[in-house]
Amino acid sequence: MLSDMDLLVSLCKRRGFIFQSSEIYGGMGSVWDYGPLGVELKNNVKQAWWRTYVYERSDIEGLDAAILMHPSTWVASGHVGSFADTLVDCKDCKKRFRLDRLQAKRCPECGGEVTEPRKFNLMFKVPIGAVEDFRNISYLRPETAQGIFVNFQNIITSMRRKVPFGIAQIGKAFRNEITTGNFIFRCREFEQMEIEYFVEPGTDEEWYKRWVEERFNWYIRLGIGKENLRLREHPKDELAHYAKACTDIEYKFPIGWSELEGIANRTDFDLKQHMNESGKDLAYFDDEKKAKYIPFVIEPSGGVDRTVLAFLVDAYREEPVRGEKRVYLALHKHLAPVKVAILPLLRNRDELVRLAKDIANTLRKRCKIMYDDTASIGRLYRRQDEIGTPYCVTVDVESLSDHKVTVRDRDTMEQKRVPVQELETYLLGQLL
Ligand code: ATP
Repeated sequence: MLSDMDLLVSLCKRRGFIFQSSEIYGGMGSVWDYGPLGVELKNNVKQAWWRTYVYERSDIEGLDAAILMHPSTWVASGHVGSFADTLVDCKDCKKRFRLDRLQAKRCPECGGEVTEPRKFNLMFKVPIGAVEDFRNISYLRPETAQGIFVNFQNIITSMRRKVPFGIAQIGKAFRNEITTGNFIFRCREFEQMEIEYFVEPGTDEEWYKRWVEERFNWYIRLGIGKENLRLREHPKDELAHYAKACTDIEYKFPIGWSELEGIANRTDFDLKQHMNESGKDLAYFDDEKKAKYIPFVIEPSGGVDRTVLAFLVDAYREEPVRGEKRVYLALHKHLAPVKVAILPLLRNRDELVRLAKDIANTLRKRCKIMYDDTASIGRLYRRQDEIGTPYCVTVDVESLSDHKVTVRDRDTMEQKRVPVQELETYLLGQLL
């Protein structure tokens, strides 16, 4: 596990995981671009989540709602009225801070005097249509959840669902965050993975407990060290206006224990609010019980970027190997951006290169591979270790006569000769 975030920021940039947005213009604060390896890792995280909840369970449907929504959505959800941080400005250095982050009533950077606190809404306003006019203002969504609530009836009807059931969505969200920094932990543009799980009132507390447990275990199943995760239940005075209960899953980031995901019992607040604002009936009719009610909602809401960061931090390893430092990412095989690297030992032996390329072409149809012949084998291994590739396949002179290649395991560094004929089956078996 990593203790210094700067090491990770530099590895991520050097090895093509994450770049500062618009870097050539001096960068854009708290906005990040995912490079060739970062996009693979992020997609793998999203796929692992989607597979677990939308494919492996029978009680959850997927959704991809639009980022832009009718402005009344945000009035109903409470975001227009209360999605705000209380801020102060430093009168000397002009920097802005969240009131709850100040130790004394002085600027944390220069010690200067600060202004009176003011409310600042975190939503980005977007003018819609050709005429800029206050009636045509909407917002970039600050959470994906509302896209689910407004589609509740559509999904019940089109998919013939009965409560309890859930709707899962992964998508971008935007917040004009004031306390920024800490790499991808807090961004102005980020992605969320959210489930709204609709249950009969009275069963909500039981479902809430189940979801807290399930989400905690999901991270562990994907390799996060149990000692680096903990649950923190919100005291009553910290609960959001819509929540009856909320538990954060916290991860021990290099910046200290911080929220990775929140699981909230949102009661029937959102559906009721949308009923009032839209005038549409969103109540559910239970055929068996012949009863009509507004379901309660349990919401596990996680950030994709924070999850990516936690997996990277947790996977980071340094160890001495023959007097040198070996750095590797012990990422779960399902998450590793590149699954197999094909490394020909000599790049000027035609037959050897041909065999290596044949192997690469066969495997690339099955998983993400990398072909690299641009350095000595020691260097090639180090490069793959640093990006967390679980398997390296080296093709050497002997391969031409014995039709076998060497497969090296990232974590144990053990090497094994495998017949070329059996390589695909062997690797896919290991990667499943
Ligand atoms: P925080 O207290 O850290 O601002 P929050 O409690 O406001 O977070 P929620 O509204 O519960 O966050 O959002 C659910 C999840 O979305 C968070 O647990 C986090 O993983 C992610 N998230 C929220 N804001 C950001 C952000 N600015 N950048 C990256 N991820 C975020």
